Amino acid sequence: MQAQSNSHAPFAHAVLEWYQQFGRKNLPWQQNKTLYGVWLSEVMLQQTQVATVIPYFQRFIKTFPNITALANAPLDEVLHLWTGLGYYARARNLHKAAQTIRDEYQGEFPTDFQQVWDLSGIGRSTAGAVLSSVLNQPYPILDGNVKRVLARYFQVQGWTGEKKVEDQLWQLSAEVTPRELVADFNQAMMDLGAMVCTRSKPKCLLCPLAQKCGANLQNNWADFPAKKPKKSLPERESYFLILEHQGKVALEQRPNSGLWGGLYCFPQFDSQAELLAYLSQQGIQQYQQWTAFRHTFSHFHLDIYPIYAQIYAQAQTEELELDRTNWKKITENEAEYGSAISSAVKYWYDLANPSQIGLATPVKNLLIELQKRK
Ligand code: SF4
Repeated sequence: MQAQSNSHAPFAHAVLEWYQQFGRKNLPWQQNKTLYGVWLSEVMLQQTQVATVIPYFQRFIKTFPNITALANAPLDEVLHLWTGLGYYARARNLHKAAQTIRDEYQGEFPTDFQQVWDLSGIGRSTAGAVLSSVLNQPYPILDGNVKRVLARYFQVQGWTGEKKVEDQLWQLSAEVTPRELVADFNQAMMDLGAMVCTRSKPKCLLCPLAQKCGANLQNNWADFPAKKPKKSLPERESYFLILEHQGKVALEQRPNSGLWGGLYCFPQFDSQAELLAYLSQQGIQQYQQWTAFRHTFSHFHLDIYPIYAQIYAQAQTEELELDRTNWKKITENEAEYGSAISSAVKYWYDLANPSQIGLATPVKNLLIELQKRK
């Protein structure tokens, strides 16, 4: 569905005028715009704020100056640069899409909407955002910020995750988006949502849409968009074994699909008893319990209990087989964990000379904690 309005229509005109004065025009990916840079920024900005994204974007572009460089890089290196941004499926999809572009489009980002939408990790809104931003192709967008502005302005009832509500918002977005100046308009809508029509306490007095906005006139912005129906998240627990031998720590690479896919993690156990039984089999009697903490994913809470132990044997780490035959995988969600965990790559991580590998955030934090305790 393409844009259906024009830049003189009241909605578009008000938004475009506001953008000239207040919109963001100096973000790194807005300078010397390329399809690659805008695509990368759009993917990084999903679920993540601009201020967080900027340094990641700059490092990424410096390391992988073009799509072919990204496609040719090992996934480990890509995940390493992504460490801390979260939602790692985004990085894996980005890498996969770069390989498709290298193999099928000679390394040039496609300019056809459907071809862009077909790439891994690119949804309808991202495809529209990239093509409108760089080439002024007349496609509307519908990210979280735009959804909020439209839901409030038009008083759209219902949770935006529902298909029929989302369809209605897409229709409204197409109706207000002008066919010309679409790059500025789409950027303006994202900025308006991020800076003025904020989640809490929107600044309606500063908003160019205030005169006709339903939420402003009815003073009911807090009702829009409707909150997701509450469902309490399940709780799970995992025991992380931080096993050190002569300055090296045992890590394993997770299978590519599922939780922390492709990242390196400590060996995990379902219970403390299982972890201690494993240590005992290895002849290790001493261990330390570190403070437990909670890591929350979008669909469950994971309570993590770190246990630290050392191997005092003189053996070389290369010779130390991490016998996992008795280790249990976490089984709460078989579809996610799958059987690939048993073939995970085992790895001794050198604390003094850390490798460029992707680490799950709790693992990274625990390695920092381990360094501090030394
Ligand atoms: S008037 Fe207020 S609620 Fe309406 S779009 Fe503007 S900031 Fe949002």
